[in-house]
Amino acid sequence: MSTPTKMKAVLLKDFGDFEKMYIGEASVPKIKDDEVLVKVHAFGVNRADTMQRKGQYPPPPGVTDIMGLEASGEIVEVGSEAVGKWQSGDKVMVLVAGGGYAEYVAVHTGSVMKIPDGISMIDAAGIPETFLTAYQGLRFVGHIKKHDLVLIHAGASGVGTAAIQLAKLFGAKVATTAGSNEKIAYCKKLGADKAVNYKHGPWAGTMKEFARELNKDGFDLIYESIGKDYVEANQDVIGIDGRWVVYSAQSGASADKLSLAVLMRKRLTLSGTVLRARPIDYKTSLVKEFDDEALPAFVDGRLKVIIDKTWPMEKIIDAHKYMEDNLTMGKIVITVIS
Ligand code: NAP
Repeated sequence: MSTPTKMKAVLLKDFGDFEKMYIGEASVPKIKDDEVLVKVHAFGVNRADTMQRKGQYPPPPGVTDIMGLEASGEIVEVGSEAVGKWQSGDKVMVLVAGGGYAEYVAVHTGSVMKIPDGISMIDAAGIPETFLTAYQGLRFVGHIKKHDLVLIHAGASGVGTAAIQLAKLFGAKVATTAGSNEKIAYCKKLGADKAVNYKHGPWAGTMKEFARELNKDGFDLIYESIGKDYVEANQDVIGIDGRWVVYSAQSGASADKLSLAVLMRKRLTLSGTVLRARPIDYKTSLVKEFDDEALPAFVDGRLKVIIDKTWPMEKIIDAHKYMEDNLTMGKIVITVIS
């Protein structure tokens, strides 16, 4: 069957609140030689999409303004340079810089992964963005090692649930913070060795005690998306030669409590990172290493996709509301084909 020229997609009337989103008609993307066209079965919802909806996170230059950073589906067209690597009918999951909220998405071949055996289309749609973000932050930027003591904030978030599992897979000890007892219990179920509800009061003392119990002077690695509100406490709990990786700043981006004296005394490495705007060669290497090291763990059950809710595309407003109410434990996935 030939590919249609028009498709359904989640579009924006304007930037702003939930009601700006509607299901409309868009052109099916035309693929380049190094791309494949995927007929989308399901796509993941990410916090970045809600920011894009509000006009706070524009797509990189040249990328479609349709939201959506990940999807699962079936390849229906293969660009000339992708022939031999991929073929029509392949079941895949993809990382994209935009365009996932639609019936069809064009993807560079370096960002395409075969869906591991036994993983459903819905689960597959929840893997690329959060797991590749966490893999990149922990492995490429944070240089995580076996026996590291790692602190992961927002442990029940999409990225957090992936990061806890990956850090455990790499042989680290993991502590985490989250904002409800239900989320704390969930983080422990995912493998966190220590989990603290930050809404019950300051968490730094408990975390330092945990490090002491393990004969550590502090955390070897902090992987976090909170920013401003945790700058002081992070410096308190991090150990000598600690690596501190910031992938978002949900409480604010200013760091006026950052002490360069602590940075020097503890010989810290403070790194910031984003995935979406990275060059395609970088993403290709990331996807390749993730494919080799992490994907087999989905098959034997050491890694799990944590799907909190699924909705059909028509319910995209409910999905964004649920995410912005900070209710998610894991991923929200939207089905395009039910
Ligand atoms: P998510 O699933 O929506 O989870 C975010 C969680 O963070 C919330 O549920 C909330 O959980 C916690 N949180 C929010 N504001 C907080 C605050 N002020 N203080 C403490 N905790 C707070 O989000 P996600 O999809 O994992 O994404 C998380 C962040 O990472 C977003 O800002 C996103 O844009 C960013 N991100 C960055 C990259 C990158 O490449 N750098 C990639 C993907 C995502 P609690 O109830 O536990 O507070």
